[in-house]
Amino acid sequence: AAVPSDSPTIFDKIINKEIPSNVVYEDDKVLAFRDIAPQAPTHILIIPKVKDGLTGLSKAEERHCEILGQLLYTAKLVAKQEGLEDGFRVVINDGPKGCQSVYHIHVHLIGGRQMNWPPG
Ligand code: 5GP
Repeated sequence: AAVPSDSPTIFDKIINKEIPSNVVYEDDKVLAFRDIAPQAPTHILIIPKVKDGLTGLSKAEERHCEILGQLLYTAKLVAKQEGLEDGFRVVINDGPKGCQSVYHIHVHLIGGRQMNWPPG
């Protein structure tokens, strides 16, 4: 867990290509890249290129509805691209109790193995 903040994060450096990442999808609004510490054979992070105050889902305002939809739709596109036709999981961790560590909203796309429920 990390202290919530609206400061720039490591994801800004990834967006600006100041640090390398393994990009699997990119358009003008959204970037998707492989998690550096994968929890499954496929573990991809999907983020907005412009944070616009969206440190986490709990900070969402009505103006964010379009980008929130784009993040989820990108998860679907990348799941297909990754061959996850038997299923996958999408997760947004929020805040300290949600185990959020990077305060730039991101959707985790996780798959390639059997998931468990409840997640714990
Ligand atoms: P959170 O815990 O905030 O939901 O997820 C943050 C994720 O970002 C973690 O799964 C972590 O492994 C990943 N991460 C942190 N730093 C980097 C990095 O520099 N590169 C990549 N590709 N992933 C990162």
